[in-house]
Formats: sequence, C-alpha cells, structure tokens
Amino acid sequence: MLQLVDLRVKYGNIEVLHGINLEVKEGEIVTILGANGAGKSTTLLTISGLVKPASGAVYYHKTSLHKRPPHKVVEAGIAHVPEGRRIFGTLTVQENLNLGAFTCRDAGRIRKTQEWIYELFPVLAERRNQLAGTLSGGEQQMLAIGRGLMSHPKILLLDEPSLGLAPLLVKTIFQTIQEINQSGGVTIVLVEQNARAALKLAHRGYVLEVGNIVLEDTAQGLLANSDVQKAYLGGG
Ligand code: ATP
Repeated sequence: MLQLVDLRVKYGNIEVLHGINLEVKEGEIVTILGANGAGKSTTLLTISGLVKPASGAVYYHKTSLHKRPPHKVVEAGIAHVPEGRRIFGTLTVQENLNLGAFTCRDAGRIRKTQEWIYELFPVLAERRNQLAGTLSGGEQQMLAIGRGLMSHPKILLLDEPSLGLAPLLVKTIFQTIQEINQSGGVTIVLVEQNARAALKLAHRGYVLEVGNIVLEDTAQGLLANSDVQKAYLGGG
C-alpha cells in the first residue's frame, strides 16, 4: 500500500535519512522505533509531502507521492498527526475538527465521520464548544487525532501520540488507536518513544538508527529481540 524506496532526505547539506526502505500493507499498524534524532519524524514528514526527499521515492498504491504538495497527499488518503499536536488553541474543539475536513465537500460524510470521532473520544463531544487551548494535554492529543481522521484517511501517520501523557491516558490513547485500526479500517504508521506499548499494538516494526533502518520484524519478533530489549525496552 505504502512503500518508501531508497529514501534519502537532507536538511541543507546534512543527510538525515540515508536511503531507507519501508513498506506498509493495508490494514497494518506499523511502528517506527528509534532514539531521539534517528529520523522518525523526518520519515513521516517525507511521506506527507512536507519534506521533499533528495532522492528515492514514496509510493502509495504504486503512484508516487513524493512530488505532490502536502494537500494532495491528504487528498490521496494520508493524514499526519504531528508531534506536539499543533491544534488551534483559540478555536473550539468543533472548529478544529472542521479544519481537518478541508479535503471533503460531502456534508453527510463529514457529519458521519465527526459522529464516529465523538464516539471514539466522548470527552471531545462533551467539550465540543470549548476552546481547544483549555483542554488537557491528553484531550488535545485526542483532538489532534480526531482532526486527522476528519479527512477520512486510509493511512494515519501518528508522531509520538503518547508524548507527555499520564500512564492511564497513554493506555486510553493506545486502545483508541487500535479501535481506529480495527473497526475503522485505517492503516497506521506509529512513531513512538514508548516502544513497549507501540510493539504491543503493532503488527510489524522498523528500528531506525541515525538515518538507517537496522532491523525490521514482526512486533513479536522485535519484542523478543535482545538488542531491541537492551536499547528500547529497558531490559536485557
Ligand atoms: P525526535 O524523537 O527527537 O523527534 P526523530 O527520530 O523524530 O527524533 P527527526 O526529528 O526526524 O528525528 O530528526 C532527524 C535529524 O534531523 C536530527 O539530527 C535533527 O536534528 C535533524 N533535523 C530535524 N529537523 C530539522 C530541520 N528542520 N533542519 C535541520 N535539521 C533537522
């Protein structure tokens, strides 16, 4: 469904992705693990067209994405929920969600999607007229995911959805990500520092180290891998 082929990305003269290959199949949750600065966010930004590769390609159902502007990537069915949430604090919850539907002109479909998001995150429904800036960190994360879903994506790119959240909320967010995948049929690419939780949720994963993919396996395989345990799971 989604394929990164020999993808090289530079910021100025500095190459931060050194030719990575990665594949996501329809219906999967794929996680990308790696230390700070490994290039995880850059990988997502390149898929969504916000960063252009120096060479290599991003294919989505065999058509190339890497030459398209970001809004065309959203139209193609890929939504990106960036690290740090980037919600609009002076707009209401509802207004933030509406912004996510900019690619869709079908009012009935927008309403249906919105109902689904409010089912997934009931707290957002309760606060639909509240200014987004007054939400808690966890609620803002829910809103950011909800806004991403408003474009009716086939693939959702999630960058550190658990960052800065209390453990109980992390659990809720991860359960909801699973629900979005299973009942919503949305394929998910998940970047996470919380490697154990991500691997419990994911079908497969890739390990990115300073711009190279050094390992790929099923989530179970990665959980059982002693190098992964030492580096990312706080064990040996
Ligand atoms: P983190 O979890 O800290 O976000 P990451 O694995 O997502 O880490 P990236 O944010 O993709 O890593 O960064 C990869 C490398 O590219 C890092 O060395 C980073 O300093 C550098 N980098 C990221 N964004 C830019 C930018 N806009 N300009 C220059 N260098 C950048």
